[in-house]
Amino acid sequence: MKKTKSNVSTIDSEIFSNPFLLTVPLELFIKICKDLTSKDLLSLSLTCKTLHHDLLCDSKLIQEIWCSARLNYIPCRKLPPLRGMSEKAYIKLLIEDKCLFCGRTRCQSKIFWPRGIRCCGPCLKVHAIEHNQLGETYYRTNIIIQLIPFATSNKHQDHQYYFRDQIMELEQEIKNVRLEDYEIWRERNKVADRRKIIEEKLDAMCQEIDENGNVKFHREIINQCKSFNNSLNISRPFTERCWKRLRHNLEVEYDLQIKEND
Ligand SMILES: [Zn+2]
Repeated sequence: MKKTKSNVSTIDSEIFSNPFLLTVPLELFIKICKDLTSKDLLSLSLTCKTLHHDLLCDSKLIQEIWCSARLNYIPCRKLPPLRGMSEKAYIKLLIEDKCLFCGRTRCQSKIFWPRGIRCCGPCLKVHAIEHNQLGETYYRTNIIIQLIPFATSNKHQDHQYYFRDQIMELEQEIKNVRLEDYEIWRERNKVADRRKIIEEKLDAMCQEIDENGNVKFHREIINQCKSFNNSLNISRPFTERCWKRLRHNLEVEYDLQIKEND
């Protein structure tokens, strides 16, 4: 049974005040969790160490609980989490209005994609720089644009930002490259370019929705496919032809991988 407005408070108070939840069979625990909203699930994970540990683990079942809460209660967010981000971290990002830089909450922070961070207005002025102002501050503008993906918020997609911590990290890296190693570094960045194109293609692929409104491909399964991992270890430019071949291989391996995981 899905929660309704009329029974939300009763269910909440039962769960949070009664330790029975720690002793119920696993099946029942999962059944209860599957009916909770993302916000309740988040609150539940903060009630005690045991539940925090249980709801934070990487198991497929727990990830499914967070995922179903997101799909049921945050329907506008059908897209899967960013690479390397857990379902719980994704839900926190979506519903917790907390700035990554100053730590303030309820500060009308906005989410910046594709980095997947929240930033408030004042911090944005300090920690990010707009695309058209890059040249005034940084002389390696071309390398910055090439190697760091710009970030935008959903509401102001025409404003492209680069975060200064990422720029500083890149500048530090360039500073540490010795003259005799420069060619190797450049070669490595060609691989980085290739990786960037592949990641963009895969991000788009993981946003495709089937006729039932479900996401067709999940990134964590693509990550397990051999052709994906092989494609990252080549230094040749990544052309459209390469993508067609990779996509074909991935579609075949994807189904096999799902069967193997089951
Ligand atoms: Zn802030």
